[in-house]
Amino acid sequence: MDATLTRVRDEVFRRNPGETEFHQAVVEVFDSLEPVLRKHPEFGEAAILQRICEPERQIIFRVPWVDDQGHVRINRGFRVEFNSALGPYKGGLRFHPSVYLGIVKFLGFEQIFKNALTGMPIGGGKGGSDFDPRGKSDAEVMRFCQSFMTELYRHIGEYTDVPAGDIGVGGREIGYLFGQYKRITNRYESGVLTGKGVSWGGSLVRPEATGYGVVMFVEEMLKTRGLSLDGQRVIVSGSGNVAINAIAKAQALGGKVVACSDSSGYVVDEAGIDVELLRQIKEYERGRISEYAQRRGGNTSFVAGGSVWDAGANVALPCATQNELNDDDAASLLKSGVVAVAEGANMPCTPKAIEVFQEAGVLFGPGKAANAGGVATSALEMQQNASRDSWSFEHTEQRLSQIMVNIHDRCAATADEYGAPGNYVVGANIGGFVKVADAMLA
Ligand code: GLU
Repeated sequence: MDATLTRVRDEVFRRNPGETEFHQAVVEVFDSLEPVLRKHPEFGEAAILQRICEPERQIIFRVPWVDDQGHVRINRGFRVEFNSALGPYKGGLRFHPSVYLGIVKFLGFEQIFKNALTGMPIGGGKGGSDFDPRGKSDAEVMRFCQSFMTELYRHIGEYTDVPAGDIGVGGREIGYLFGQYKRITNRYESGVLTGKGVSWGGSLVRPEATGYGVVMFVEEMLKTRGLSLDGQRVIVSGSGNVAINAIAKAQALGGKVVACSDSSGYVVDEAGIDVELLRQIKEYERGRISEYAQRRGGNTSFVAGGSVWDAGANVALPCATQNELNDDDAASLLKSGVVAVAEGANMPCTPKAIEVFQEAGVLFGPGKAANAGGVATSALEMQQNASRDSWSFEHTEQRLSQIMVNIHDRCAATADEYGAPGNYVVGANIGGFVKVADAMLA
């Protein structure tokens, strides 16, 4: 890293103490930027680096709600409006007990560059709460969402900031949030949230988009080596929305998905994951992955704790959460002959794991590029809302597929241009950064 990057990095560490995930996300981008600063001295002169690391606005608020026993509970809500150079702030809401400002900032920072790579007019933001939806009744989740929106509504809008889902926030939560926004503002402003149900302004393919997009990205990477997903052994970590749809798409393209996981452990199913059973247990019943092994029978096994990556694969798709795949996992995947890894989650591979993959010549698709299909389809939802239109599944999937091919090609071309052929991390970081920096400068 050159002197300017090191100085700004240290300043970011000092100004944001203890926010380790945010530090990690910044360093990961800065590691790619040396050639950019050489080529564009105007970015340095205009202090673009310092400006891009400081959110335009950060909102922290109290979320009081009443549980089913009549007790008042308090959570903390966040919305970080990071960068609006390219469009209204755009990014999901995460409801999970691990959420604090550092997590929201890492996610918001990543979102800036990811959104730029989609080629759509959207800035970067992220939000959420330390609320834990697990074990809560529908009524409790509803009261929490209504209270959350009772503060958030004043900060968002279709031209200002457009939240969506992330971990712990799916169609149910978006429904409660949208209902409260509509009631408070007396406006049917469809474009204020994405991930809505299709009957009330949502887009077909949005629920599938992140997982489908990851697999489309992998297919493009494999093509560069004359390979395809057909016949490959695949592991997908996680079992939420992104994982389930990645499994479905990988299978549709001939891949054999043999393992997936949740925070309690993982299952190995050598016959190939039954995606409908998985969906039934995880999505509809909100159950645990161990139930999959019990109900599936046969040779399916459940391993409590442990690492899903030990199941061995040619293609690995981490779709659970940040820092879930470390250098030991990367080494064990290498032994099993892994050829491609793509991040369905945000920052799931540790920096050391990425190093292991890249040194071994494994195709590595970073989340900013590989999982951008979700937010890109959110932007397609916004387009449909703005034109009071709704598109068919085929048309929308075709648009998503073209966007993923474009992102892949743009990352590959940028990596070539900056002297790092085949390095999608460099391609994604530089491709996203230059687009945002140019707009900020203008
Ligand atoms: N949370 C998703 C992401 O990490 C999607 C955000 C959106 O659709 O706005 O990109």
